[in-house]
This record gives sequence, C-alpha cells and structure tokens, in this order.
Amino acid sequence: MSPFRPFLVCGSAHFLNPCRKLHIGADGMKSSPDAAPQRLPFSRVTEEDLTFFKKILPGRTITDPDLVEASNVDWLKSVRGSGEVLLRPQTTEEVSQILRYCNSRNLAVNPQGGNTGLVGGSVPVYDEIILSTSLMNNILSFDDISDLNVSLPGILTCQAGCVLENLSLYLADRDYIMPLDLGAKGSCQIGGNVATNAGGLRLLRYGSLHGTVLGLEVVLADGRVLDCLATLRKDNTGYDLKQLFIGSEGTLGVITAVSVLCPRKPRSVNVVFLGCETFEQLLKTFQLCRGMLGEILSAFEFLDSECMRLLNTHLKLPNPISDCPFYIVIETSGSDPDHDAQKLHNFLEEAMTSLLVTDGTVATEDAKIKALWSMRERVTEALTHDGFTYKYDISLPVERIYQLVTDMRQHLGNRAKSVVGYGHVGDGNLHLNITTPAKDPAVLAAIEPFVFEWTANFQGSISAEHGLGLKKRNYIYYSKPSQAVALMGNIKAMLDPKGILNPYKTLPDNL
Ligand code: FAD
Repeated sequence: MSPFRPFLVCGSAHFLNPCRKLHIGADGMKSSPDAAPQRLPFSRVTEEDLTFFKKILPGRTITDPDLVEASNVDWLKSVRGSGEVLLRPQTTEEVSQILRYCNSRNLAVNPQGGNTGLVGGSVPVYDEIILSTSLMNNILSFDDISDLNVSLPGILTCQAGCVLENLSLYLADRDYIMPLDLGAKGSCQIGGNVATNAGGLRLLRYGSLHGTVLGLEVVLADGRVLDCLATLRKDNTGYDLKQLFIGSEGTLGVITAVSVLCPRKPRSVNVVFLGCETFEQLLKTFQLCRGMLGEILSAFEFLDSECMRLLNTHLKLPNPISDCPFYIVIETSGSDPDHDAQKLHNFLEEAMTSLLVTDGTVATEDAKIKALWSMRERVTEALTHDGFTYKYDISLPVERIYQLVTDMRQHLGNRAKSVVGYGHVGDGNLHLNITTPAKDPAVLAAIEPFVFEWTANFQGSISAEHGLGLKKRNYIYYSKPSQAVALMGNIKAMLDPKGILNPYKTLPDNL
C-alpha cells in the first residue's frame, strides 16, 4: 500500500469523497477548500468508439487496466482518475482525427505529457480519454546558422512528446542548451512544459517560455490544426495566438509541435553552494550577487535547513558544507572562464568578509556541479518520502517569501510533520511544502484558504509556475479579477464549445 492516501478518489459513478458545494463570497472568492467537481454529462466510451480508435491507432489504443493505471495517477500520487482508454498517437494528423471524433461524440479528453505536473491537471478526474503525447518524440529540425559561423541562438523544432532531458542532450552535442531546466527533466515533455508554462532553474537568465517559444502547432478541440509553428524572432502580424496556449494546461488545444529559441552552451559554468544565518542575509547576498555577477548570473536558488534535513534523512545526500539555517545555490554561465572566475572570486570575498555567508563550496567540474544542483533539484523527491505533501507554489515580492513559511509553521504548530521552504529567489518564487504522515482533511482545512489569503494580502500569485490544474482552480480569484476569469471562460467557450478538453481543470467551477 502506498504511503499516500488519494487526495481525491474518483470513480466513473461517484466520488468516494462527498462533494460539497462551493460557495462564492461577495468578493468573488471561494469560501470552501473542496476541489471535488461533479461529473459533467460527457458521453461514455462505447465498443463502437473503441473500434474507431483501434482503426486509426492500431496497437496504440490501450484498454488493459494495468497499462492504463500509471496514466490515471499523478506523480505525487495525490489524485486518481478512472480513465479506461489511453491513446498514443504518433502524428498531428492522428491527434486531429482523435479530437474531431471525440468532439463529435462529446467524449472528454485529458491531454498528457510526462505526467509530472504537480496540480492534478495531468490525469483524468473521471473517465476522460487519456491522450498521451509520449510517442510524438521526433526532433523535426535544428537550425544553428552554423554555415555563417556566428553565435546566434539556435532554433529547435520538435514534436510535443520529446522529453526535456533528451532535447538537452541533443543540443549539448551541438553546443547549445534548452532555455529551461527543471528537476523533472528526465520525464517531463516539451509539450507539457509549454502547456504549464514551466519556469524552472534557468528562468532568471533566459526568461519564460512566453519569450523563448517561437512557434506552436496545436490541434483544436474540433480537430482543426492551428499551424503557428513559426521560427521567426519577430512577427507582429496581428494577435500572437500561440501565447494563449502557453500555460493553458491542455484546456484550449493539444500542443503537437514546438519551436524554441535555444541559447549557446556557455563555455564556463560555475556552481556555488553557500550557507547563511538569516533570510535577510540571503536576500542581501542576492542583491550583492546581482550587482557583482551581473550578466553571468544564471540561477539563484535557495533551500532551508528543513529541506536539508529531508535530503539527509530520505535520500542520504550529505550536506556539502556546515549546517546553516539557509542555503543558496548560485550558478554562473559565461563565455570566458578566467573572467567568470575572477568575478566569482570577488563576489565570494565580499560576501564572506561582510559576513553575509558563513560557509560555502564552489564547483567547476561537471560531476560536482551536478552533485550541488541535486541538493536543490531533489527536494521535491525527498518530500514524497516524508509523507503526504501539500504543495504551494507562490510568487511574492522577494522580501516576503520566507515570511510565509515562518507564519505557516506557527499557524500549524505540531499538526504538520514538516513545513519547508525552497525555490527560485531570483524570480520571487517560493515552494512552500507541508507534510503530514497521511492525508489529513483537518490540516488541509487549516492550510487553505489561509495560504491563499496570506498571498493575496501581499499581492502575490497563488501559482507562480505549476498552474492551477484540478487542485488550485477554484482559488483563481485570489490572483485574478473576476473580469479576467470571465474572459478566460469566453476564450474557452470559443475554442472548445463543448468543453471536452481537460474538463474540471484550470477554470473554476462557477464559469
Ligand atoms: P503533464 O504533467 O503530463 O501535464 C501537465 C499539464 O499540461 C496537464 O494539464 C496536461 O493536460 C497538459 N499537457 C501536457 N502535455 C500537453 C500537450 N501536448 N498539449 C496540451 N496540454 C498538455 N515546474 C516548474 O514550472 N518548475 C520547476 O522547477 C518544476 N520542477 C519540478 C520538479 C519535479 C521533481 C516535478 C515532479 C515537477 C516539477 N515541475 C516544475 C512541475 C512541472 O509542471 C512539470 O514537471 C512539467 O512542466 C509538466 O510537463 P509534463 O510533460 O510532465 O506534463
């Protein structure tokens, strides 16, 4: 038996969790933390439907419950659907045929990439058909302008199901990198990254996918193929439609191909792991770092001592420096090793002499760089071994981000097993995680809406980079005005009038 008890246990007939009605307060905010929606009146899959799918996807229409099971449960093992059909198309044309058919039959569809999403968006809620992009994993082209022998960014065009790490390896051989990197790189797919507008560890340097994605090919709910797979850096011919699909979490269309602007691989990379006594010192170190490392700074991440304890306990990762309340991972990426080393040296000397940091270690070789990065990248994994995890991905003015962790600890007292904070300081993005030995509705009720109210109070966002999915959709009003949510509903209705694409996700119940 898994240590996790399902957050929602959904059957095609009914919920095991009782559904409570959501109430909307006068301010438009939800007053209930309940995330369980009612099943909408979609058709159920029939033998005739299966015959159709098997004809267009021979050997790739999966109905064996044992094989479909993994696609029904999310990475955190916190939500479970009861999809009975898993479709594995290889081409855009196949996706188009599937959606045209599902739309005409009123069958709901759950697009799925690597299934590493953290907000319950990647798995069905009821019996939605799971449309996996895993077999759409071809690189279509890579243009590095090498003939001209100039260092312009390369443009990679690939199918949506390419795994992020495979793309990184492909590009590394050609002296380029992907503009994004995240702990789930070994499983997540570029289509899923775009659908969630994943941020990750390089956003500080290369910006978000809203800037680095140059083009998209998307299949709309009725099967029409929208070919916006441009590779131009500039194109102001009307509305930039691709932006609508970046971060749309599978609710507006199925992304089938992506073109991305890829930076040159930096010639010199350094990673520094530092310890600080207070969060204030950590922020001052960030300020100093921005000033002194300037253009070579590519990441500034943090974790607290509770994260370190979980890494030590559950993953047996030893602390590379002495114990401190806070740890920083700084990465520099540049083109001149001597110049970068000098800048880094000056920064470290200043940070140490001004007593901002108390200990630290520097890595320049790949193996040590990887080891230091794993202290930050593997916190999510360590948490899954600690118990049932309540995950919050909050964006706040940077000076506020740790106050939420401290306040939450105080608020929960000994009701929580661990309350930890880590994240992307450079982007003002906190990952607040709380664990309990098993799923505990009383603890959940103590966390939500407290965490969202706290965030809204400081004009933060309740989802900095993970999206809303199933779990957070009803809290959208904490971060978006009702006019904006209503307009989102209009866009959804225009692109997917029957609402077959990823129902119960992203948009709130009351739309
Ligand atoms: P899935 O999980 O399969 O799907 C996610 C959503 O996108 C779902 O709503 C799904 O319906 C939709 N979707 C998937 N593919 C398509 C498609 N082709 N067309 C339309 N819709 C689609 N996120 C960050 O932003 N930054 C991080 O640093 C980060 N670190 C992580 C670390 C770990 C260890 C883990 C497990 C997750 C992390 N995440 C992070 C979460 C992140 O959202 C995902 O890892 C990733 O972007 C999702 O990609 P995926 O292919 O797994 O998509």
